[in-house]
Amino acid sequence: MTETEADRSTDTRCGYVAIIGAPNAGKSTLLNLLAGSKLSIVSPKVQTTRARVLGIRIEGGAQLIFVDTPGIFAPRRRLDRAMVSAAWEGAGDADLVLLMVDAERGIDADVDRILTGLRDGNRKAILALNKVDLVRRSKLLELAAKLNEAGVFTDTFMISALTEDGVGDLLAHLAKHLPEGPWLFPEDQLSDVPMRLLASEITREKLFLQLHQELPYAATVETETWEEFENGDVRIGQVIFVQRDSQRAIVLGKGGRQIRAIGEAARTELQEMFERKVHLFLHVKVREQWVDDPERFRAMGLDHNA
Ligand code: GDP
Ligand code: MG
Repeated sequence: MTETEADRSTDTRCGYVAIIGAPNAGKSTLLNLLAGSKLSIVSPKVQTTRARVLGIRIEGGAQLIFVDTPGIFAPRRRLDRAMVSAAWEGAGDADLVLLMVDAERGIDADVDRILTGLRDGNRKAILALNKVDLVRRSKLLELAAKLNEAGVFTDTFMISALTEDGVGDLLAHLAKHLPEGPWLFPEDQLSDVPMRLLASEITREKLFLQLHQELPYAATVETETWEEFENGDVRIGQVIFVQRDSQRAIVLGKGGRQIRAIGEAARTELQEMFERKVHLFLHVKVREQWVDDPERFRAMGLDHNA
């Protein structure tokens, strides 16, 4: 270790912050705001976050490493169970756990289950009541009091991930409560998520945004080729996997119009994100049963036997 590194480690903090909460609580929105870059996928549809994605923020000498978990919800199928297990694992490894609750929705079965999980696991958490822009103050206070009856929260914050109300205070609190230690990631690193996964997530978001309810959330995107050219351009080849021929037809659209629109939207965002010219090639393939395919689970970093 050089002298400067040793010096730095004495007055820096660093640690993992797990953001947990029911689907749609606003976890991805907050993460994107805090990490300052679109790393996790925000979408009006529930359960779109499959892989655990890291966002990193440096704040007042602290490096905060955020873990965006898939929503912790009632597991029905195998994939759901793997996601829930990954989410709890993320929370277990973390230095701080931030529970986001949609203040408009209040305490429902999802929130109840998470509270029980925290209490049974003897985990302390920080409560962020989100979407305060939608709710009257009196209702907020009532909800905060009720949630605190569970005895698992060290602190309560009222925030709006949308208007950024209260987010600064929350961030300062998180930074102050991480353990002392050297930073784990280089200063300029926003995420350790491989570029390929990031690129897949972008296309998957466009797919869902453009097709709305027509496509089951089982559709997935994989980046199969990634070629960088001397002039800085990158050529990305991706496959959109669906489960049935009828779904393939929906994704392609009449005369290929739909997939061209998806590709164009994804390409535009990829160019902005990677700050270089992107040539994007999309293919649609039918792969039945991918939902239960152990390979997919491994590729997403999930445990097939959860
Ligand atoms: P996640 O499933 O917990 O990751 O939730 P998302 O971040 O994807 O957000 C779900 C929906 O809630 C999106 O439509 C967001 O724009 C919206 N949302 C998130 N935070 C707020 C907030 O503070 N106020 C309002 N009004 N909407 C929000
Ligand atoms: Mg999300």
